[in-house]
Amino acid sequence: MENIYSNRVEVLPPDVANKIAAGEVIERPASVVKELVENAIDAGAADIRVEVRGGGLQLIRVIDDGAGIADDDMETCFQRHATSKIRSAEDLGQIRTLGFRGEALPSIAAVAKVTLVTRPGDSSSGSFAAFEAGAVTERGRRGCPPGTSVSVQNLFSNIPARLKYLKAAATELSHISHLISNYALAYPELRFTLINDGRLASQSIGDGNLVSALIKVYGITTAEGMFALEDGEETASSVHVGGYVSQPAISRSNRNCISFFVNRRWVQSRSLTYALEEAYHPLLADGRHPVAAVNVRLPFDEIDVNVHPTKSEVRFLRDREVFARLQKTVRRTLTTHVSIPALVSHPSALLPGVEKRLEVVADQNAEGRLFAHDDLERPGQIPKQPLEHDFSRRLPILRVIGQMGGTFVVAEGPQGMYLVDQHRAHERVLFERLARERGRKAENSQLLLEPLTLELTARQAALLTAKLGDLAEMGLALEQFGDHSFLVRSIPAVLVRADLPQALYEIVDQTIEDHANGDWQDRLTATLACKGAIKAGQVLSLDEMRELLVQLEATSLPPKCPHGAPTMVHLSQAQLEKQFGR
Ligand code: ADP
Ligand code: MG
Repeated sequence: MENIYSNRVEVLPPDVANKIAAGEVIERPASVVKELVENAIDAGAADIRVEVRGGGLQLIRVIDDGAGIADDDMETCFQRHATSKIRSAEDLGQIRTLGFRGEALPSIAAVAKVTLVTRPGDSSSGSFAAFEAGAVTERGRRGCPPGTSVSVQNLFSNIPARLKYLKAAATELSHISHLISNYALAYPELRFTLINDGRLASQSIGDGNLVSALIKVYGITTAEGMFALEDGEETASSVHVGGYVSQPAISRSNRNCISFFVNRRWVQSRSLTYALEEAYHPLLADGRHPVAAVNVRLPFDEIDVNVHPTKSEVRFLRDREVFARLQKTVRRTLTTHVSIPALVSHPSALLPGVEKRLEVVADQNAEGRLFAHDDLERPGQIPKQPLEHDFSRRLPILRVIGQMGGTFVVAEGPQGMYLVDQHRAHERVLFERLARERGRKAENSQLLLEPLTLELTARQAALLTAKLGDLAEMGLALEQFGDHSFLVRSIPAVLVRADLPQALYEIVDQTIEDHANGDWQDRLTATLACKGAIKAGQVLSLDEMRELLVQLEATSLPPKCPHGAPTMVHLSQAQLEKQFGR
């Protein structure tokens, strides 16, 4: 970013100020960090250090080695619409800096105690000023290195209503980590350091190489599995797309690892995300998302940044061209590296023929002609508490006849024929066993001969750390080592045959996503059961099928899998006879 600090800080005239997208900018600690980091970047800093205490509520301090602020500009900076970055309405049409609204410092000073210490490079000493409720409380000169340090204390302590909406310190910290990771990806030439409660939480290399930044943020395994985007020859276009995207074998269960930078501004964009994911179709299974750090560059007058007060959304003058260009570039990169037909995955493990037959059944079922498994629906509505002696939910004694499509157990009972989904039935069995064994580590956990390494993002690591005890209770022993990697020493015993480490990454994702909900352990138990259960397509012996039905029968709710889907369908003798027109 060019140095814009030859300009002094001035309050924008009302006609310009009125054209700036209005709204709240400081919603949570991470919003403060965002504004301060952006100011440091705009000031041409090379080294940006962020210190946080109490998830940012106690203290946020951002220290940079940038251009500094002139002593007699310090008060002006804290006035609304005071900026050194734009002067006129015309400038709004081609914003080149991250900031331009002149609202961050006054908005922060309105909700916290702010201390500013700064020294321009050409000044022999520094200045400091403290602000409370927006007014200066202390002022003076002080020796300090060139650059700026802004400390924000007791954020929102004057707005209890706002405090109420904030999450635990670990969650707020995770938002901050996520933010810093994204700025490290957007500016690989800058060194970002995050210190949490006095301990180093993350640090980027700052060598100007996006791969170094990706390694720091996502770990070496993921970074090595990413492809550089090749922009192609369409030189006529003013839109350029660069960065890195993951190979299809590397994916996530959410979109947290997808970042877009437009002219080096980190933006959220559904349309860009959609274009990116479309390019992966059909290489990723449903519900899987790539890892990506994508840089879009285009002339400054072809984007509008002044759409949202937090500046995290942009509008493109020629949006279709941008989306098409992104999609083409990603597509071209993926096709040159992977042979598509070999990689097309069948997310459903059902054999195609079985799928077809099931569709037919589902259709007829919808019309109520063939399958009327009322007797199975009814117990499904019974509240979850185990009612030991409620026989309406018990299975009758079933005789196994055989297996269909490697997926369904065909059985006969006094009331006709039963088709049991082997995967869902086993899920129900494992789910109840796991719930019983929770907290009994010796029984539910399996030591690994060689520990596995999970490489997480700083955000994931921050959130996961708070859950290590709970996970250990469920048999998953994780130990932090390095910035944000974890060693897996033992796994829940049900996972011995699961696809590791994929299953473990999913469990981590789920733990993090779900951790605010009270019943996250139940849902995690359901996931463990799912990962550990017999898969569809697995051939079973008669004995194995019998054993499965005996175990299913012993559960508290045989007809439903832990996710609430039916484990079986029932075709009564009477229905069969009707079908045959008897
Ligand atoms: P904006 O960034 O939109 O201009 P801010 O309220 O964030 O508005 O900052 C007001 C002004 O204070 C900036 O325009 C800049 O001149 C000055 N300033 C803020 N932070 C820094 C910093 N870290 N280094 C140098 N100047 C800064
Ligand atoms: Mg700013």
